[in-house]
Parts: sequence; structure tokens; C-alpha cells
Amino acid sequence: MKKIILFVGPPGSGKGTQSKKVAERYGYRHISTGDLLRELVANGSADTEEQEALEKMKTGALVPDWLIYRLAFHAIGQAVHSGRGVVLDGAIRSVEQATQYEAFLAEHNLLSELQVIHITLSDEDALSRLTTRRICAACGELIPWLPDTMQLTHCPKCNGELRHRADDAEEVVRSRIALQGNAMLAPIVEFYQTRGVLNEVDGRQEIGVVEEKIRELLSSDIK
Ligand code: AMP
Repeated sequence: MKKIILFVGPPGSGKGTQSKKVAERYGYRHISTGDLLRELVANGSADTEEQEALEKMKTGALVPDWLIYRLAFHAIGQAVHSGRGVVLDGAIRSVEQATQYEAFLAEHNLLSELQVIHITLSDEDALSRLTTRRICAACGELIPWLPDTMQLTHCPKCNGELRHRADDAEEVVRSRIALQGNAMLAPIVEFYQTRGVLNEVDGRQEIGVVEEKIRELLSSDIK
């Protein structure tokens, strides 16, 4: 049976980067609810009710749960139907959502396949990472502020220009961390801890080290 791997962590913890690596390694479908919402905005297929719900995204607030369930459950169903496992990224942001996902997974006999990876990072570390990192204007590669990258002016992958992201401005980052940081995560982490499916990885470590720790965690029982 293929796994349902859920990544949780504060903004800047690296869960986007790491969840994509896991999906690529095992041929799983990477499902980011943020990406699904942005696609719905971009392809213009949202009905009036969905359009109203999508407005919430502009203020940094969470969109209504029903829209998340509609998009995420459809995407999970499609992947599982075609024999693929799933990596969920940013898909659960409240205990209420965790409870509804649990009911959905149980209904489809997938609950025993759920494994949660919590990438830990303090709010202070998240703030300093997000406000110093840069993004390549051409290919979107994120460049952390490290001794060997801080001198770079152009992307090591494609030579595009490196810039700061508009939503990485300090005031915006502070409000993202207030709304989506460790205070919001704590009850979700506790929810999965009591169910015995939680694994923690220290997100302060270098990307390659975090990747290796996750690989070790998953290697024993993933197919
Ligand atoms: P992200 O790309 O993960 O930062 O998500 C971008 C935005 O999409 C968030 O700020 C929320 O407005 C919305 N969003 C993504 N996932 C969820 C979710 N599970 N529940 C509610 N809103 C979400």
C-alpha cells in the first residue's frame, strides 16, 4: 500500500522543499493546497462561491475549509486511484481540518497509511530565514542566506537575478508567522502525537541533512 505522507511545519521550515524531494524520490503526487488554490485562481474556472472564498488568500487569512476539502480530497482520490502515494504539503492548518482529513482517509481505507513529518523551527528562526532568503526572478529557486550564498547576485542554477520576495518583507512575514507559525501548529502536532503517527525532524539543520533524516524515517516502510 502506498503512503499518505503529511508535512507540517512553520513557514520557512523547508517543508515545501522537502515534500517535493520525497514526492520525486518515490514517484508520489505532491499536493500543496496553496498551489491548488493558486491554480484555481490562474485558470479562471472558479464559480462565484469559490471566487469569494479565494478572496481570503489576498489578506493572508485561511480560505474556508469546504474549498480545501473539495480540492484536496479530489486530488488525493485521483492519485490513489491511479496507484500513486501522496505527499501533502501545507494541507492541514487546524485540528478541525485534521479531523475531516482523518474521516476522509478512514472512509477510503487509507488511515493506516498516514505518516506525519513535522519539520521543527522556532518562530525567530523562521523570521530570520524568510526575511533574508532570496528568490531567483527567472526560475523561482529559493536561495537561503548562508556564508557561501550571501555574496551571490545571480542564481547558481540558471544565472537569473536574485531578489527578495514581496511577501518576505518583514511586516508580512511577521503576520504570516503569527497566523501560520508554531502557535497554530501546536494543537495539530498534539493531535498526531496522540495517534502515534508523528515524526519530528530538526529544521535548523542543513537541507541535505534534513533530507537524509527524512529518508531514514521513511525508508523502513515505504513502497
Ligand atoms: P501556501 O502556499 O501554503 O503558503 O498557501 C497560500 C495560502 O493559501 C494561505 O495563506 C491560505 O490563504 C491558503 N491555504 C493553503 N492551504 C490552506 C489550508 N489547508 N487551509 C486554509 N487555507 C489554506
